[in-house]
Amino acid sequence: MGRAPPSNSRQPLPVPVRCSSCEAPAVIDQPYRGSHACAGHFSTSLEERVRQEIHRQLPRFGRGTVAVALSGGKDSSVALALAARYFRRRPTVRVVAISVDEGIAGYRPPTLKAAEALTRSLGVEHRIVRAAEELGTTTDATAVELAGTVPCSFCGVWRRRLLNRAARAAGADALVLGFNLDDLAQTVLMNLVRGDLDRLVRMAPHRVRQPGLVPRVAPLALVPEREVYLYARIHGLPFDHGECPHAGRAARNLFREIVWRLEEAQPGTRQSLLRTHERLVERWLGDTEPGAPERCRACGDPSAHEVCRACEYLRIARPSSTGPEAS
Ligand code: SF4
Ligand SMILES: [Zn+2]
Ligand SMILES: [Zn+2]
Repeated sequence: MGRAPPSNSRQPLPVPVRCSSCEAPAVIDQPYRGSHACAGHFSTSLEERVRQEIHRQLPRFGRGTVAVALSGGKDSSVALALAARYFRRRPTVRVVAISVDEGIAGYRPPTLKAAEALTRSLGVEHRIVRAAEELGTTTDATAVELAGTVPCSFCGVWRRRLLNRAARAAGADALVLGFNLDDLAQTVLMNLVRGDLDRLVRMAPHRVRQPGLVPRVAPLALVPEREVYLYARIHGLPFDHGECPHAGRAARNLFREIVWRLEEAQPGTRQSLLRTHERLVERWLGDTEPGAPERCRACGDPSAHEVCRACEYLRIARPSSTGPEAS
């Protein structure tokens, strides 16, 4: 999280390059489409892709609550701005933004400020949940305590728990995440390389409702990371550029690099990876009757194991902690 978008490794556009749809100067090339776009056509096409994804992932959703996970970085800020715009025409839908403060000094406070500025400007309710209060520890503290462990492993697991619980507490019917096309392509490749079919099928966007788990949707699924960044800049959305000090140790970095290289050599690779995921999930759901998920015996949250990973990490980070964590 918080990493700068990939630089456009292609050369800067020569000055007279025009939009493929009009005479205006192009602001971006889209090699996977073989086209260039001006600011206006770029924004319209991005908004349309997001509108179609919300419609596809949340069909006929006209009443209820949508929670948006808002970190204050570019992706979740664009996801919130476009979700708020989409649901503005549906007064029976309430949008709530949820931020998690994992306790990462120097990184999280400015992103939370940006998140507050955005929710204020959009008039969206904003809730902040803090790991220190909810879990009794922070990412920074645990990173020192478990110096041999990559912090993203426990930080990501805990953030998912806090987001799910906060979304449940807000009465949310869906949880919007800011995952962009690059993020999702990397995750598909990571799970394929690891042979982790279970996790591949459980990835957002969720196709199957599971008790206790607010279904996750990813409206930016068809938007490359650099386009998310450009959209946020063109529309002046407040977001923070900071990078998490623990990000350098994330296993994802290797897959980020591989996906960039594949995309450079073969434009459209990211979309192909997502299509592969879709087809696998369809096959899987066609063959398998999804049963009710197991519950963690310590906290009661949905879990693929007897004790969920969030509780496992808490046990290691806080050896004295005992008893159920259920909320
Ligand atoms: S520790 Fe990892 S998962 Fe947590 S905020 Fe930093 S980069 Fe993201
Ligand atoms: Zn144009
Ligand atoms: Zn648990």
